[in-house]
Amino acid sequence: MEHFRQYVDGAFEEGAVRFASLDPATGTPWAEMPGAAPADMDRAVRAADRAFHAPAWAGLSATARGRLLARLADLVQEAAPRLAALETRDTGKIIRETTAQIAYVAEYYRYYAGLADKIEGAHLPIDKPDMEVWLRREPVGVVAGIVPWNSQLFLSAVKLGPALAAGCTIVLKASEEGPAPLLAFAELVHEAGFPPGVVNILTGGPEAGAALVSHPLVAHVAFTGGPQTARHIVRASAENLARTSLELGGKSPFIVFEDADLDSAANAQVAGIFAATGQSCVAGSRLLVQRGIKDAFVAALTAKAEAARIGAPGDMTTEIGPLCTLRQREAIERIVAQSQQAGARLVTGGTVPAGEGFFYPPTILDCTDAPEAPCVTQEMFGPVLSVVAFDTEEDAVRLANATPYGLASGVFTQNLTRAHRMVRNIRAGIVWVNTYRAVSPIAPFGGHGLSGHGREGGLAAALDYTAVKTVWLRTSDDPIPDPFVMR
Ligand code: NAD
Repeated sequence: MEHFRQYVDGAFEEGAVRFASLDPATGTPWAEMPGAAPADMDRAVRAADRAFHAPAWAGLSATARGRLLARLADLVQEAAPRLAALETRDTGKIIRETTAQIAYVAEYYRYYAGLADKIEGAHLPIDKPDMEVWLRREPVGVVAGIVPWNSQLFLSAVKLGPALAAGCTIVLKASEEGPAPLLAFAELVHEAGFPPGVVNILTGGPEAGAALVSHPLVAHVAFTGGPQTARHIVRASAENLARTSLELGGKSPFIVFEDADLDSAANAQVAGIFAATGQSCVAGSRLLVQRGIKDAFVAALTAKAEAARIGAPGDMTTEIGPLCTLRQREAIERIVAQSQQAGARLVTGGTVPAGEGFFYPPTILDCTDAPEAPCVTQEMFGPVLSVVAFDTEEDAVRLANATPYGLASGVFTQNLTRAHRMVRNIRAGIVWVNTYRAVSPIAPFGGHGLSGHGREGGLAAALDYTAVKTVWLRTSDDPIPDPFVMR
């Protein structure tokens, strides 16, 4: 069994309880993890608060903070193969994906390294004589970061990068499912030379998470996860009145018009729903396809789904790995069964393969006659595509927006004016046109409605971790007159 530790105030610790992590490809324990108790979270937040005020961090120039982030970026890049192997082992995400994703995670740290000394205040042309007024942008304080199991290194980079660039300190809670890569990443934070307490990384379940987000010294909660947990977090933030940024799930529409390049669209749709075995917040899980091409397009997808190599996630040739947890697979099986009862037609997949591990095959359900089936309305977080046919552009917009979520969307068409209309009319935080799943540290990422609020990535994310301080300075040497003496 491999052994992992938590990282608090610059030291590595065993944690209050130890728990076993399962290898999703076999269902057997492979590593022992440190579980944080609420008291550990309290210590970590206090350490982050001390570090926030200590000269070793608060006294650093923004440029020096940027240098630390740049060093971290280099270390992540060097360690990428090891981190990728750990993530693959602990979450079942295939090695092809973890290798590419973690190499790119280094770019997020590099982007925020460069941004640290470009977070500027402002001078105001104030409407009063003898006054100078300017704005300082100051870090908000201690950030609580909470991430789900999928892509933990990526989802924490979009919190750590901007928060540290802004000068905040952070306590990050890894998911209790698959925390290995984030706990190993703590060693790189240590090696990069961040002062003790600036970054703290622990893991644990809802109890540990609740202790973190409700802590009175937390100023901002940056959460990625499901809407139900987000509600707990918003309620908890009523105690400390912390700011929140919420990156939640989605039921993102992938819209294909008859005039689209269908080969490109099919490849993008396959990647959009089956990458990460569907455990992706931006999964294009609702295919809306124009009726005239539906059968041909679904046949093309089916052929690709059935040809996908399902297997050991650590094998470079594997295309579909297991789900992260058995619980997740059971939830998917349940929704697929309920959807079939509601009239959805199973096109391919839908049967758990024999053998060990938490595997589930790429699955397509035609829901054209059952547009209210649970697989169309509920986020499944698995490799299940629901298909609904549409006739007109208006129908496509109506179906696309018929969801309380609003994270991502994809539009495939060669018609330029239609593409622009769709961009305008779709209610989502991201619209990809003739592409899908593209991300960059330079581009904001986030959603509306049940998909949450706030944006990660880009300059705006760093500004989100700052508060504006308005400074008024009187430049006159004349004494301020006594207000109680009549003139
Ligand atoms: P989850 O909401 O169950 O758990 C997420 C995290 O919250 C975990 O670390 C968990 O321990 C913690 N947590 C649970 N209860 C808590 C509480 N009361 N207080 C504080 N923390 C608590 O989500 P999950 O099932 O692990 O992950 C899947 C969800 O994440 C999906 O809905 C998915 O769409 C979403 N997601 C969103 C994005 C995005 O960027 N929008 C990215 C990835 C995943």
